[in-house]
Amino acid sequence: MKKETLAIHSTNLKDETAASIAAPIFLSTTFERSEDGTYPKGHMYARNSSPNREVLEKGLAALEGGLRAFAFGSGLAAVNAVFQCLQSGDHILMPSVGYYASYKLAEEILGPWGLQVSQVDMTDLEAVKNAIQSNTKLIWIESPANPMLSLSDIVGICQIASKLSIKVGVDNTLASPILQNPIALGADIVMHATTKYIGGHSDILGGAVVLKEDDDWAHRIQRVQILMGATPNPLDCYLLARGLKTLPLRMKEHSKNAAILAEKLENHHAIEKVHYPGLPSHPQYDLAMKQMPNGQSGMIAIQLKASENATQKFASTLNLFQQATSLGGVESLIEHRKSIEGPQSSTPGNLLRLSIGLEHVDDLWTDLRSALDKL
Ligand SMILES: *Cc1c(COP(=O)(O)O)cnc(C)c1O
Repeated sequence: MKKETLAIHSTNLKDETAASIAAPIFLSTTFERSEDGTYPKGHMYARNSSPNREVLEKGLAALEGGLRAFAFGSGLAAVNAVFQCLQSGDHILMPSVGYYASYKLAEEILGPWGLQVSQVDMTDLEAVKNAIQSNTKLIWIESPANPMLSLSDIVGICQIASKLSIKVGVDNTLASPILQNPIALGADIVMHATTKYIGGHSDILGGAVVLKEDDDWAHRIQRVQILMGATPNPLDCYLLARGLKTLPLRMKEHSKNAAILAEKLENHHAIEKVHYPGLPSHPQYDLAMKQMPNGQSGMIAIQLKASENATQKFASTLNLFQQATSLGGVESLIEHRKSIEGPQSSTPGNLLRLSIGLEHVDDLWTDLRSALDKL
């Protein structure tokens, strides 16, 4: 089946009570046991498993082409579950440019427990090869990566890793399961902050891990889900499964709007640089076309011909683009990354990250252009 069909039909929860078409929401934390002590519907206690979470996990596994999926209460809880598969003394290779909190989790929280982490330019295959250590057990990729939307060659890195029996995990949040499937490119693990495109309406915090195989890592992640207990609630699971149904359609529109705006932005005199892998002028354009042939995400980063101060001010002069962090919602957002990342940030001060929403692209351009014209 194609993704549009899978998205709708892999997320069904058949209800026997009312024969409803839309899924019911099961708020129950506990489930009745039979006379012989078994659990007839497979659920015992909601931290272990529950009907709405099960449906969400099935849908995610189907769309990513994996055998198992596990949902969590945030993207970071999902990252943590993957990192918990490692032992004290193991090493993770992480990207030098990527979601800052994922690195902080490895370094600040798991470092004292004996996990080793180092960062490398994940866009450079030679550098990746050279940064692998004898105790490297996991290579963590984020592609496209925050905040400049740089890409990593997933196939290339997986080829290097598989020769050395190193697992590869991909934070696929910015691409969504619609525009990129890392498992098909050779990865073992896919992670999503479902907070972003999958939820799609800026009203749910969630995360997920999808695994290619039902192996010992899958078992361990399930144990972490149950024993560390960062599980999502049934209402959020319902909303996320509902979000999956329209995800193919939403991604098409996010992608189309961003492609149009990236080109217009590139031709505006107040812009120094546009970071969008779908532009032929982008240094990774060929990789973008190969790795994400069905479209790029709705994310664009721009650098203005303006000072850091003026750039930060610019972010609050737009009407439709609201100044806020996060991404992937129906509404367009703009954010000044450097001031969010803090003083140690290497992000340029004149850089703004745009999450292109589902408003009409003409209105979005009018908003951007009239502010840019005033610079
Ligand atoms: C938001 C985000 C996360 C973290 O997700 P939370 O739900 O905020 O914990 C991880 N990776 C990427 C790429 C993100 O955008």
